[in-house]
Order: sequence, then C-alpha cells, then structure tokens
Amino acid sequence: MAEKPRFYDATVTKIISLSESVKHFVLDYASDADTRFIAGQFMMVHLEKDAKPHKKPYSIASSPSLKNKIELCIKRVDGGYVSNWFFGLKEGDAIHTSLPYGFFTVREPWEENIVLVGTGTGVAPLRGMIEKLYEQGCTKEIWLFFGNRYETDVLYENEWRELEKKHKNFHFVPTVSRGKNWKGETAYVQDLVKKTFAGKISGLDFYGCGLVPMCQQLKQALLEMNIPKEKIHFEQFT
Ligand SMILES: Cc1cc2nc3c(=O)[nH]c(=O)nc-3n(C[C@H](O)[C@H](O)[C@H](O)COP(=O)(O)OP(=O)(O)OC[C@H]3O[C@@H](n4cnc5c(N)ncnc54)[C@H](O)[C@@H]3O)c2cc1C
Repeated sequence: MAEKPRFYDATVTKIISLSESVKHFVLDYASDADTRFIAGQFMMVHLEKDAKPHKKPYSIASSPSLKNKIELCIKRVDGGYVSNWFFGLKEGDAIHTSLPYGFFTVREPWEENIVLVGTGTGVAPLRGMIEKLYEQGCTKEIWLFFGNRYETDVLYENEWRELEKKHKNFHFVPTVSRGKNWKGETAYVQDLVKKTFAGKISGLDFYGCGLVPMCQQLKQALLEMNIPKEKIHFEQFT
C-alpha cells in the first residue's frame, strides 16, 4: 500500500550543470524532517501557476541513506513551466516538496541479476537504486544501459566509469544514437538490451525509466524475448 506523503520545505544548497539542458539539484531538509523513501521513488514539487496550486513529479536521484538530503536531476523542457522554474532557482532558494510516491523500486531480496535501462533524465531513479544497492553490498550482476542522442547527454558518466572500476559486477553500457565522435554503441537502447540478452533471459529483473515511447518499445522488446511480465518494471515520465 502507498505510504501517506509528507510535506516539507527544503533549501536548494547546490546546483550543478550536467549538460546544456540538464541540472543536478541538491535539496537540504531540516533535521526533524522525515524524508524516508525507497530508492527509485519520486517526490512532488509544489508551486503556483496562475495563482493556483500546481505540482509536478520528479524522481529522486540519490540514495535514501543521505541524511536530510535529496538530489534531483532535471531537464529543461522548451516551454515547460516547472522545469524552467527549476532552471531559474539559485542556491539558497526554498522549495516546497512532498514525498514519497511510486512503486518503481528494486524487488528484494535480490533473487535475479538486475538490468537497469534509462534514457535521458530517466537515469535519475536508477542512480538512487544503484547507490543503494552498493551500500547494501549487492553481489548480483548489475547492468546500466543508458541511451542518449549525443555523447554530451550521457549524465553522470564519470560516476558510472568509476563504479565500473570499483565493482566487477557493475556493467555500464552507454549508447549514443547521433554522436559526433562517439566510438561506442549506437543502437537504440531497447535494441541493445534485446541483442545483449537474446537467448539468456532467465535470472534477470528489468527496470526501465524514461519517456513513454522508449518505455513502451522496451516493454515490447522484453515481451518478445519471453521475459515474464512480473520481471519487467517501469517508471514512465509522462
Ligand atoms: C513519475 C515521474 C517522474 C519524473 N521524474 C523526472 C525527473 O527525474 N527529471 C525530469 O527532468 N523530469 C521528470 N519527470 C517529468 C516532469 O514531471 C515534468 O513532466 C517535466 O519536467 C516537464 O514539466 P514542465 O512543467 O516543465 O512542462 P509542461 O509545462 O508540463 O509541458 C510543456 C511541454 O513540454 C512537453 N514535455 C513534458 N515533459 C517533457 C520531456 N521530459 N521531454 C520533452 N517534452 C516534454 C509537454 O508535452 C508539453 O508540450 C517525471 C515524470 C513522472 C511522471
């Protein structure tokens, strides 16, 4: 059953530009705020639009172990109300939030290897999941398939490369469909997942996150591979 959301104000304490259109935001909460959530869940950001309350969901891009701190990864959408409001924020500004929401979380205990698939800021909840999995000492194989148009869009790339060096069971598989000097994979992420796991489908749990078309195509690809429905989990950014 869904947990009742809790409402808290936070302070934006750090803003990092990740690419031309994506920023990473660190939110700090008061020490008595109950910011518990499960890695992969999302929060609501509350503001006003046309003098009426307005809210938008954003996945939490950090692990729940961070004390009174939550990180977000937000893309500026052309003409978008809330994403452009975010891009106007400065360090020290206040933000109204509620949490936790959603069911996009890693199934425990881990019985299967874990395949995470994201495009763009769809990597946000996967980042929180990965951080938490390693804090818990997960020894299952973990793949992160990350699809983007350009190489400059590959968010948190250094983190993934470092994680790969640190953990033999972590496999970072970026793919860039329109790269200029890109030497790696170029297929659409759902096709790459299909090619990688063709004929080796047992013992895997799949978690996909991104815009609706990618999620739908990935789901279709996994069902065509005869992956059981209960092994396929999604968060769609609508
Ligand atoms: C569960 C959930 C979690 C989410 N987590 C994140 C997250 O971690 N990071 C993040 O950046 N976004 C995330 N989103 C999307 C986010 O909630 C907003 O939809 C997005 O920021 C656009 O809101 P806006 O108010 O700026 O745009 P709006 O004013 O609502 O829309 C303006 C126009 O942009 C289009 N549009 C909306 N979203 C996108 C998009 N992503 N790409 C291209 N066009 C779009 C709309 O169709 C509309 O035409 C999430 C969505 C859901 C449902």
